[in-house]
Formats: sequence, C-alpha cells, structure tokens
Amino acid sequence: MRAGEAYPVEVGCGLDVGALAAAALEVGDCALLTDSTVGPLYAGRVRRSLRAAGWRVLETVEVPAGEGSKSLAVYGEVLRRLARAGLMRDGALFALGGGVVGDLGGFVAASYMRGISLVMLPTTLLAMVDSSVGGKTGLDLPEGKNLVGAFLQPRLVAADLGFLESLPRRELSMGLAEVVKMGLLAGGRLFGALQRLAEALAGDAGALEELVLLSVSFKAGVVAEDERERGRRAILNYGHTVGHGLEAASGYGLAHGEAVAAGMVAEALLSRRVFGTDLVGLHERLLREAGLPVRVRGLEAAEVLGAMRRDKKRRGGEHRFVLLREVGRPVWGVEVGEEEALSAVEAVLE
Ligand code: NAD
Ligand code: MG
Repeated sequence: MRAGEAYPVEVGCGLDVGALAAAALEVGDCALLTDSTVGPLYAGRVRRSLRAAGWRVLETVEVPAGEGSKSLAVYGEVLRRLARAGLMRDGALFALGGGVVGDLGGFVAASYMRGISLVMLPTTLLAMVDSSVGGKTGLDLPEGKNLVGAFLQPRLVAADLGFLESLPRRELSMGLAEVVKMGLLAGGRLFGALQRLAEALAGDAGALEELVLLSVSFKAGVVAEDERERGRRAILNYGHTVGHGLEAASGYGLAHGEAVAAGMVAEALLSRRVFGTDLVGLHERLLREAGLPVRVRGLEAAEVLGAMRRDKKRRGGEHRFVLLREVGRPVWGVEVGEEEALSAVEAVLE
C-alpha cells in the first residue's frame, strides 16, 4: 500500500524490516530509537534484520517508556547521542515503539541536521493504525501536549502484527478506540470489519490484520488529500473535541482512548440533535466490544467545557465539531452552542 507522499506502508506478520527498508531507501548508516519496554523485547531482532540487509546500525537509543519521553530534555539527549555516534545527513532513523517513540523519533528526524530519513516501526495498535501514518510528529511542553512539532512524512511504515502479542489488552483497546472512530467515519468495508472487534481484542491475528489494513488505508487516504490539515483531514478529530476536554479536565489521569470513546458518544448525541440520525446505541455497543468505557466518572461538565474552550482547535465563540450525518458521512466544522455542548458532555458523565 502507498500513502501520503507515496511512501510504502507494509502490514504483516514477521516482516523483514531490513529488506523492506533497503527497497524503500538507500542502504547506509542508521540509528534505532526505542523505549525501555520495547527495546529489550524487539531491538535485537530488528538490528539483526537491518544488518543482514547491509545497514550499519551506529547506535541504539532507548528512552524511558511513557509519555514523559516526549520532552525537550529527552529530545536533546537523543540528538546528542546521534551526533556522538557520527550519524550524518544521509543517515536514517528507525523508530521502534508506540506513538511516543514515533512522535519523538519523528521530530528528531525532522530536525537533526535539518532532516534525515525516518522509518516507522510501530509496535502498538494505536501507532499502527494512527500515529505512524500522517506525518505529524511532536513533543509535549509542561504547558501542554504536542505543543512542539513538525510535519515529516516517513519513508516507510512497517507494521509487524507479531509485535502485538506482547501488548497488554488495555493498550489494544486504546488502539481500537481509533479503529472504531475510523470505521464510523469510513463506512463500507471498514465499518463492516468492526464486527470483528471482540476477536481483535482477544488477540486474533486475522481480525487484527484486517482492521489494521483497512484503518491504515483509510487514514492514509484522508491524509493524502490534505497533509497539512487544512480541510477534510479534520474529520479524524471525531470524538476528540469532547475527548480532549475530558482528558484535560481529568489532569490526563484518563487515558486518551477512554476519553475519545466517551467523547464519541457525546458527539453522537450532538449528531442526533443536529441531523436527527440516532447512532448512539451503535456507538455504545461497538465501544463496549472494544473493551472501552462509554461514560466517565468523577468530572464536572463545566470543567470539561472549560478545557474544550482552551483547546487550540477552537475558533470564535462557538464550539466546532465533527459530527456524523450517518455512518460513513461525517461533516466537519459544525457549530454548536454552549448549552447543547454542555448537555452532551453531561450525558457521558456519571
Ligand atoms: P506509547 O508509545 O506510550 O505505548 C504504550 C505503552 O506500551 C508503553 O509503555 C510502551 O512501552 C508499551 N509498548 C509498546 N509496544 C509494545 C509491545 N509491542 N509490547 C508490549 N508493550 C509495548 O503509547 P501509544 O498509545 O502507542 O501512543 C500514544 C502517543 O501517540 C501519544 O503521545 C500521542 O500524542 C501520540 N499520537 C500521535 C499521533 C500522530 O499523528 N503523530 C496520533 C495519535 C497519537
Ligand atoms: Mg486520538
């Protein structure tokens, strides 16, 4: 499959990363970036595959697992490790890990020596279906998440489903939240494949492969039309307007996938109000099958609205939403008044 600025996206089990990378870009010096959970499990195997295809792996940088590594301090440390290893402008960076390693590695590759080649080797379901495709990279600041970043399209994405065997079930659910979102946005075959959510959550390789392939090609198609998010790419924020509000109001105690799940239910309620189509029960059923909550505890609606108001994507006086006219027919930039937004948020709080 080819995505965005025409880079290959490979999905399969037991991929030969070294050979795939040799086909996508010129073989030479490279470095491997990973985290402290993924590195001990898979870095050795990946290095062997790279070396067998002729790559010179100058350095493996292992950052602590978790969101804390998307920081200026860790970013600076990674740059210095690459410089000390002697990686040059024609080198490549392989990002082996979840969305954190992908976002950090992407920003390193975008900025080190004004830009080097990036290969994404996603190891979480979320990274496979969402963060590794689309070209957004980023770091967090103490002032907020993803406030620093650049657009950089990878030269190759190789999603080896074998990596998912060690992924905790809860992390699978986090990825499935985005899969459900894309199924509702896409309709057609991807929506049909949502019948296999429970199998996917149980680790069924066939179900996971089908959902990953269809999700990635949907996201890649949307992004290819609108790489810099000036128009239709905004549909990928379905569930995220309320979702970000819930996450921020919880002080980021609530996981992103859980916040987006409840956020989609709230936005389905708004869709019903605006378009008269009732997809609320469908949302709740799919999200439960994916192991996700459809309500959130312990938050006040006013705090959530406050956080939504501060969200960087909000313009003017109204709240703007991506809503669903029906499955497969999203509409973006729909303005909704404060009171309607408040009542939709209240409905997903308990
Ligand atoms: P993550 O990278 O923190 O991974 C989650 C946890 O799973 C980590 O502890 C990690 O070490 C562990 N892990 C990863 N792969 C594993 C495996 N195969 N087996 C066992 N454990 C494994 O988080 P994530 O959910 O993958 O990504 C979240 C990040 O992605 C956030 O920072 C978010 O902002 C970013 N994101 C970016 C984009 C984008 O377009 N760039 C899109 C969505 C999310
Ligand atoms: Mg998301």
